Amino acid sequence: MALLCGSAVRTGRGGSGGDVHGGGDAVRTAGLPARCRLVRSLRALVVGDAFGAAVDAVPRTEGRTLPPGRWEWTDDSEMAYSIAGELAEHHHVEQDSLVRRFAERHDARRGYGRGTTDLLRRIRGGAHWRLAASESFGGRGSWGNGAAMRVAPLGAWFASDPGATTSQAALSAEVTHSHAEAIAVAAATAAVSGPDTEPAEFLGEVATVVRGGPVRDRILRTGRMTGEPANAVAAAVGNGAETRALDTVPFAIWCAATHLADFREAMWTAASVGGDRDTICAMVGGIIGNTAEIPERWWAHCEPPPPWTILP
Ligand SMILES: [Mg+2]
Repeated sequence: MALLCGSAVRTGRGGSGGDVHGGGDAVRTAGLPARCRLVRSLRALVVGDAFGAAVDAVPRTEGRTLPPGRWEWTDDSEMAYSIAGELAEHHHVEQDSLVRRFAERHDARRGYGRGTTDLLRRIRGGAHWRLAASESFGGRGSWGNGAAMRVAPLGAWFASDPGATTSQAALSAEVTHSHAEAIAVAAATAAVSGPDTEPAEFLGEVATVVRGGPVRDRILRTGRMTGEPANAVAAAVGNGAETRALDTVPFAIWCAATHLADFREAMWTAASVGGDRDTICAMVGGIIGNTAEIPERWWAHCEPPPPWTILP
């Protein structure tokens, strides 16, 4: 599918040079077709994932030197490709179809958690996802990152419909994971309307959609920390070191909220606190993919998409 999705309206704000993928500076997303928003979010998620994983492989990030060589994307991207493919084909989430994509495309070398790998192998072997998920996670759904790390493109697709964003995010999560954090990431992506939104306002809007629970509490907490350094925010709400979504999602949304128009700054900030870098950078990229441009050099480092993706 050849889509020219980089040609959104430039604002002249954000970005920091001419080496951007798809055209320059920050962009406004209002009026972009859903497919364009989907592709832009997915593309930025993949670059974020691959960047975070590459930074993880380099001992030090001082000086902000880009990691050398080819950056390989991980499970975050592989699952996000499936979400995007599902929406491109059906325009909504059909759970049986989505989980079949996850299972058929699962590559254990991409860094999946053991629970998800076991679950997808069982589904590939013929088990129904509802039974397999309940047996794998005691009926609660996994608290890991899987549902939240892959869902941003869904938020981009349904950006004009908050009700559909939350209900479809929940459906996409249910096949493998519990819901609340995935809804938060999808809601954050859907809430991005332009690069000029004030961070506290943005975080408050996202918290409104995520009703109750600890993830909402942590997002609200980050809304009171918009001027503070990243390590202080990560110390307050987590950096993914606990490998569960509650520990990654609030910080990722804060990074996105405070750098909606600047891909580089968002990524280096997200990667600066250690923890689960590929997942946090994937979430941040997916959220800001429609307001911040990917630098061309970053895109060039990134491993190409698999042949079955919708990315051109
Ligand atoms: Mg990963």
